Amino acid sequence: MEKSFVIKGNICQTKNPKELDLHENSYAVCIDGLSKGIFAALPEEYSSLPLYDYGDALIFPGMVDLHVHAPQYAFRGMCMDLELMDWLNRYTFPEEEKYENLEYAQKAYGMCVDALKSGATTRACIFATRHRGATELLMKLMEESGLISFVGKVNMDREASEALTEDSADISAYTTFGWINAVKDKFERTFPILTPRFIPCCTDKLMEELREIQMAYGIPVQSHLSESKGEIEFVKFLRPDDPFYGDSYNDYDLFGKNDDIDTDVKTVMAHCVWSTEEEVELMRKNGVFVAHCPASNMNLTSGIAPIRKYLDLGLNIGLGSDIAGGHSDSIFRAITDAIQVSKMYFRMVDEDVKPLVFSEAFYLATKGGGAFFGNVGSFEEGYEFDALILDDSVLPHPQKLNLAERMERAVYLGLDTKKIAAKFAAGRKVI
Ligand SMILES: [Zn+2]
Repeated sequence: MEKSFVIKGNICQTKNPKELDLHENSYAVCIDGLSKGIFAALPEEYSSLPLYDYGDALIFPGMVDLHVHAPQYAFRGMCMDLELMDWLNRYTFPEEEKYENLEYAQKAYGMCVDALKSGATTRACIFATRHRGATELLMKLMEESGLISFVGKVNMDREASEALTEDSADISAYTTFGWINAVKDKFERTFPILTPRFIPCCTDKLMEELREIQMAYGIPVQSHLSESKGEIEFVKFLRPDDPFYGDSYNDYDLFGKNDDIDTDVKTVMAHCVWSTEEEVELMRKNGVFVAHCPASNMNLTSGIAPIRKYLDLGLNIGLGSDIAGGHSDSIFRAITDAIQVSKMYFRMVDEDVKPLVFSEAFYLATKGGGAFFGNVGSFEEGYEFDALILDDSVLPHPQKLNLAERMERAVYLGLDTKKIAAKFAAGRKVI
């Protein structure tokens, strides 16, 4: 299919968190991968383009997964009995060690990429492992999928299993240089992202080297922040002089901005469950993205991130599956989880912090996380054309429902796990 075409159906999106933006029987126009907007009647100038009429189907923007660990896909839905630090040591590190072996990586990453491709996700920020070979293989598979992603070779030179700990900060940095040089111009849809696993696994020397690498290549950064209480205590022990966890990244200019050279450093931090006021303020000031991963935060007994507060403060926020802390790769599921945990926060923690409503959580899954990739997550003019075509006739209902009801129901009932009729990423048909 060419990258210029028209699709027709019931278009459902959120231009802002406060309201749904619904268009029955309307046209979305894609020119060379970019949206030209939504039209009730097709303008004459687009009448010669190929038209794909999806009838009564729902059309959503593609879902953005801001935080997913591809090498953990194989053990999702298992090993849910421990909190973060023990869970990493007992289950996660032994699984990630296996990616030294490219044959295993081919098999396991193949399954993970197939799942992402056939689900609702069109864009993702992905952690690989510390292994360069397997990371390049994952990037190749992602590129072939047609999805758009940032993929990170993980850096970790302490506090992991022996097989997973890189031999020194220098070797970690050297491998990372080699990896970035090999992949930075290789793909159209798959890009490197700097990935210090988290402060407990990275020495000061390694962080200093990553700072240099970030400055040399200007690539974005992903990591973990203030996820669980045990982790935060450990960071305090390792870096007692830092006033808060995020400051440990900021010391190395890996937290949204490099003030020395007055440059933005695009950064996404997963979780932010226990961020202090100071930490949140620095994230706001530096434009750091929060990847909210509600399922993972429940499964690992981490807590509930106060997303309502972050929204009100104007932080950049998206949703993440956090496979395999989260057991489902469905961002539809993450939308419902985000709403549900916000209700628990309201009822159990602070009744001044109102729960999220559907339009807000849908916004986080599309435009909120999409902003990490640029103009993504909407059919407004100039946005990259990511679309899901969903046939909700497989969820029969005795009444005639309106579009808002059908949209919410499709998400809550997990229509993405039943059937996606078609999917586009930046104008390319991937399903
Ligand atoms: Zn994670």
